Amino acid sequence: MNTFLLEIVTPERLVYSKQVTSLTVRGVDGELGILPGHIPLVTPLQVAPLTVKSDGVATVIAVHGGFVEVHKDKVTVLAESAELPTDIDVERAEAAKERAQRRLQSRSKQDDIDHRRAELALQRAVTRIQVSTGKGQQ
Ligand code: ATP
Repeated sequence: MNTFLLEIVTPERLVYSKQVTSLTVRGVDGELGILPGHIPLVTPLQVAPLTVKSDGVATVIAVHGGFVEVHKDKVTVLAESAELPTDIDVERAEAAKERAQRRLQSRSKQDDIDHRRAELALQRAVTRIQVSTGKGQQ
């Protein structure tokens, strides 16, 4: 079957490296489906789950920002952090979600930068919860 190499890399580690048949990511301009032979491109990603199909099996991975780079036979996702469903500590993500929600509720005391940080922390936590509970597939 026609495939391409997908690598998901963070500053800390290589999270995923496999021949895949398709990749669906959420770019800043919306959802993007990548199949073998896609035209080369670089685009920023949202904090969101991505879906990979390999050997007929779909895997959902939590990806927190960064970029996707599409080359001829290889696609690289460079993210600040990324986790497979089995890597995710749901209790930690639930605690992070509650912390972020508390910060957002008391936002009148905070400046815009803190508000944006709390929004992004909430998105990361929600993405982790979705991926670990199997609800993140696009
Ligand atoms: P927290 O407030 O719980 O640290 P965070 O969103 O601030 O969450 P990040 O800065 O995005 O955390 O990630 C720091 C490191 O911790 C990364 O290596 C990331 O993969 C890992 N990580 C964060 N949250 C979780 C989680 N719930 N389960 C597993 N790994 C996690």
